[in-house]
Amino acid sequence: MGTDKSFARRAVFLDRDGVINRNVFNPATGEYEAPLTPAGFLFVPGALEALRSIHNAGFLLFLVSNQPNYAKGKSTLEDLSAIHEKLVEGLAVNGIAFASFYYCFHHPNGTGNRYSGACACRKPSPYFLLKAREEFSLDLSRSWMIGDRLTDIECGSRAGAKAIFIACESACSLTGPEPDAVAPDLLAAAGMILAAN
Ligand SMILES: [Mg+2]
Ligand SMILES: [Zn+2]
Repeated sequence: MGTDKSFARRAVFLDRDGVINRNVFNPATGEYEAPLTPAGFLFVPGALEALRSIHNAGFLLFLVSNQPNYAKGKSTLEDLSAIHEKLVEGLAVNGIAFASFYYCFHHPNGTGNRYSGACACRKPSPYFLLKAREEFSLDLSRSWMIGDRLTDIECGSRAGAKAIFIACESACSLTGPEPDAVAPDLLAAAGMILAAN
């Protein structure tokens, strides 16, 4: 399935934190991190506009997000679910449909709950991109991965997709597979995708 490229569809895979919504400064660690509660979930300015333009250009949209904070004992599953609902509401209000939301809740060094331990789906694994290719007959070579971590770039690259690195608030450095492009934010990344389209 999904082998006839003439019918294969294109997708944009999106990391969430630091791309769609802002990372939140955690004074305890001194780092910018995923929000732990719905109140901490705020869309990046221009992100919804960017998603709408990519969607309108005919790309399927997928979220591919590592959310290990329950596995690490830093957040409840209820809060992670409520954060997801806030995302879904914001998308719906703006007429943006995602084909699927893929979350990895695991962490290899968790606190012992059911999401603690090794898994196949945590980025930089390309697991969810390959799963989406099968389920939605995608041409990954004409698809994109956008993220603000090295693991996002490696994930996209391992799946054979093009990758755009968002230069992030946490000043993370890129010392791995080369992205196809670097953008200051999602709106700029969307412009690059549409220009290459
Ligand atoms: Mg991120
Ligand atoms: Zn996982």
